[in-house]
Amino acid sequence: MAAPKKIKLDEQSIEVEGYVHNVSPLKVSRNNNNYFNAIFQEEGKYTDLVCFVQDYNSVLKDIEKTKSPRQLQFRFEEPKLNKTVTIKEARSGLNPFQKITIEAKVMNKMDPTLQAIKSGEVIRKSYITVADATDTIQVCAWDKHIDQLEIGKSYKMTSVSLRSFDGIKSITTCPDTIIDRIEDIESVNTAETDAISVIDTLIIDAVSCNSFTLCSACNKAIGVFNPDVNTVKCPTCQMRQKTKNLHQSFKIQVNCRFQSNDQPKKMAISHNVLTNFRETRELKSDNEIEDYFLSKSNFKVEVTSSQSQILRILEAN
Ligand SMILES: [Zn+2]
Repeated sequence: MAAPKKIKLDEQSIEVEGYVHNVSPLKVSRNNNNYFNAIFQEEGKYTDLVCFVQDYNSVLKDIEKTKSPRQLQFRFEEPKLNKTVTIKEARSGLNPFQKITIEAKVMNKMDPTLQAIKSGEVIRKSYITVADATDTIQVCAWDKHIDQLEIGKSYKMTSVSLRSFDGIKSITTCPDTIIDRIEDIESVNTAETDAISVIDTLIIDAVSCNSFTLCSACNKAIGVFNPDVNTVKCPTCQMRQKTKNLHQSFKIQVNCRFQSNDQPKKMAISHNVLTNFRETRELKSDNEIEDYFLSKSNFKVEVTSSQSQILRILEAN
């Protein structure tokens, strides 16, 4: 078979091989641009094409007539949500959950904590402050990304996702995030960024702890079960499992005050926060946990800047 002829459409392009069908006549768009449509058939899929280069209309019509596979080069318009933006642009103009690419220098890195994700898997998470020439922002880095980002070095972070939490913009790495080392960004804007988190002192006046037994398959509460039998069926995911594999989770509510503003508040302390602090990790019962929190006069904690969520206990005093 003869090598298929290439048709060069653009510099930044990818190559795909397939058949061309249904090349339309030239049309005029609402913005007065000439365009035409076609369908491109690859193995197992059809893609609708829009082409704005008039001259290719006759070229593609010819290819269609040959009914033989051709290699075409396409420039896929990078969706706006994954373009390279400055940190200032990310913080001011974009919407949460947009995928973006940034180039920034690592300024600061917090010690990783462990966090259970939806699947029940426990993975490492770390808040990392990065800066470029325009601004700084916090990156919530997960698992392998934490080790890829070293303090003082600069990186291109492709396909990170923008978050907005308590009105504060941050970035999180995703399973498809790619981190590449780049040349040092020398001039960075180290203006004080709104941190996702601040350190505060928490005074607990009253505490209530409830424990739940979680399904080892779906991580949902399993409800009441007989601990004397060997197996139990999860009412949520219907998976039968050994009762010894079930794990316990605690939900803690506290009436408390923060030293910074002294207003009475009700806050939750999550199971993750509990297991990330060495003194509370080993506590096994509701009573033990309640007594522990009341036995201390205060806790140094990492909390969201609006004091809506306790992220980590750093110290008990
Ligand atoms: Zn389940």
